[in-house]
Amino acid sequence: MVEAVANIGVVGLAVMGSNLARNLASREGNTVAVFNRSHEKTDTLLSEHPEAEFVGTTSYEEFAAALSKPRTAIIMVQAGKGTDAVIDELTRVFEPGDIIVDGGNALFTDTIRREKDVRETGINFVGAGISGGEEGALKGPSIMPGGSAEAWETLGPILTSIAAIAEGEPCVTHVGTDGAGHFVKMIHNGIEYADMQLIAEAYDLIRRGTGKNPAEIAEIFTEWNTGELESYLIEITAEVLKQVDVKTGRPLVDVILDQAGSKGTGVWTVQNALDLGVPVSGIAEAVFARALSSKTEQRAAASELPGPSSTVAVDDPDAFIEDVRQALYASKIIAYSQGFDAIVAGAEKYNWDIKKGEIAKIWRGGCIIRARFLNRITDAYLENPGLVALVTAPFFTDVVSTAQDSWRRVVAGAAYAGIPTPAFSSSLAYYDGLRADRLPASLVQGQRDFFGAHTYKRVDVEGTFHTLWSGDRSEIESEGSSH
Ligand code: NAP
Repeated sequence: MVEAVANIGVVGLAVMGSNLARNLASREGNTVAVFNRSHEKTDTLLSEHPEAEFVGTTSYEEFAAALSKPRTAIIMVQAGKGTDAVIDELTRVFEPGDIIVDGGNALFTDTIRREKDVRETGINFVGAGISGGEEGALKGPSIMPGGSAEAWETLGPILTSIAAIAEGEPCVTHVGTDGAGHFVKMIHNGIEYADMQLIAEAYDLIRRGTGKNPAEIAEIFTEWNTGELESYLIEITAEVLKQVDVKTGRPLVDVILDQAGSKGTGVWTVQNALDLGVPVSGIAEAVFARALSSKTEQRAAASELPGPSSTVAVDDPDAFIEDVRQALYASKIIAYSQGFDAIVAGAEKYNWDIKKGEIAKIWRGGCIIRARFLNRITDAYLENPGLVALVTAPFFTDVVSTAQDSWRRVVAGAAYAGIPTPAFSSSLAYYDGLRADRLPASLVQGQRDFFGAHTYKRVDVEGTFHTLWSGDRSEIESEGSSH
């Protein structure tokens, strides 16, 4: 008979689950019960990590019996059907008041559905976004839990004990109810896509503009990482660029096939932003850039199409590199600004009370987009919780006004040289669109009214209008109904 000695359990002992279980076990006061569908993974974990003093179990019944009440279990299995299968098993062996946490990469709408279904059994269900990859799981991830306030009371101290620490504060907060945590994790991943694409464009521009090799460019990124661009992604970019291929002696980045893969969270971000009507153009361009990179047949067919030589004529390499740095910083601010807009829209639609400043805080450590300037985002939302666009906060306005000449030179230079910079360019176009006092959307409205009688509003009079577009305009222009 198994005794109820564990305060927390983990189901799913592949790389993420076993590392998270080890992280939990290493914290004072935690005793961790573990279970995996195939027992070999449990046996391996127990034999390789005796110091963790795991309570190994071989059935869901045994797993439930090993947990003290309220039972709390974190699921780290394959997202989708695997998660549903484990939830079914746990709801069978758990009791009302117990807590099931899904730490996998679930789509937030699945989490909303699961939370509703599980709640009917009296058991709490928490969807928790966990970022930081396998190293984060082991040493301290950034954790974005949703679910009920009641579940957070029990779960909060446990998750706080394993989260990354940034400037003395744990990188975890109760994001909001039901799917809020997985929604915010999805946006995190979308921003990650944009950030990675922007860095890749910066590298490409410097390489083509200055002729520097990857190792030399690695030094530039290392230097950038000591300033306002300091971030995990800049740091690992330098590492990737430094790497030499053992087989050929060439820079590894030149040997890696230029087709970027994805697991789908960037696509989810864009799909949901489209549904919410939020322009996340930087994130979308990053997703499309990966898609384009993988269109090998089309790329081969188009490779002889006319265009410039794909090099930038640079007179002053140092000035050019500084321009690229500024363009990267400004574009990055746009990506985060758009990501936070999507969070605001999601919170409104799904009725979540999300504290934007808190989200920026918990992204400062443990996660892939951790970056120095997240402090500035927290400050901006603390100073003005109703901030309508992050880029309009005084600090970010200053950054963009300093950067914008460089940004424009880089985008224009790239266009002349035939170098694709979709994320840089779309970020600048978004910025100019946002600040424009008048957009050609008026013409679009005219076109819509012309072919579909979709009506339009006027700048000078309240109401909704439709024009009869052919014939004698003065006679047939008509005022529609006012709302
Ligand atoms: P994974 O490869 O996504 O999943 C393998 C695990 O799922 C195994 O333990 C497997 O059990 C279990 N599993 C699959 N179907 C199951 C079922 N029907 N019933 C019970 N167990 C089932 O593992 P992972 O890479 O460690 O990721 C775990 C979760 O964390 C995923 O949702 C992933 O998206 C998320 N995540 C991963 C990362 C990362 O960097 N890898 C980062 C953040 C979040 P068996 O051993 O019996 O096959």
